[in-house]
Amino acid sequence: MKPSVDLVARSDGPAATGTIAAAVADLTVAGDVIVLGGDLGAGKTAFTKAFGAALDVTDAITSPTFTLHQRYETGRLVVHHLDVYRIDQIEETIDLALPELFESGGVVVIEWGDTIAPALPASYLMIQVEFGQGDDERVFNFIGIGPAWHARMGQLAASLSEQAAV
Ligand code: ADP
Ligand code: MG
Repeated sequence: MKPSVDLVARSDGPAATGTIAAAVADLTVAGDVIVLGGDLGAGKTAFTKAFGAALDVTDAITSPTFTLHQRYETGRLVVHHLDVYRIDQIEETIDLALPELFESGGVVVIEWGDTIAPALPASYLMIQVEFGQGDDERVFNFIGIGPAWHARMGQLAASLSEQAAV
């Protein structure tokens, strides 16, 4: 069964996506896992850049498509940014040592993470990014998998509606 969407936020451009990402970052704690789904160009990397900036990561976050895993240590939390687009067999995730990363006390953001569902932990925040009507419109669908984000979903909704992002 497909889990139902808990919260929807609409973005009318990269700046609004940054606002949404900052609202998520404000609620993020050590050990969190955030999975970003959505087609190429949807804004997964754009979200991650703003998310890292909101956690005070000072290095520029770049797309890890060719490295699979980048680690940023200068922020409030250690940010692990993964992009598993090029992984086509679940066995290939073994090299990423995901269980160790999930236990490492940092925050793990995985672009295309929905494609490696069996390798994900029991609890994480799923964000499905869809294209909207105009070129710059995006729709962020938030789904709390397991208990970790369940309690925070209301806070996220409140924070996003305050900034008129929903
Ligand atoms: P992905 O990582 O999902 O493949 P990127 O974040 O690399 O996508 O690219 C998103 C592209 O879409 C960027 O060129 C960005 O400027 C553009 N864009 C336009 N509107 C938005 C929006 N509302 N949110 C995020 N990115 C947007
Ligand atoms: Mg990307």
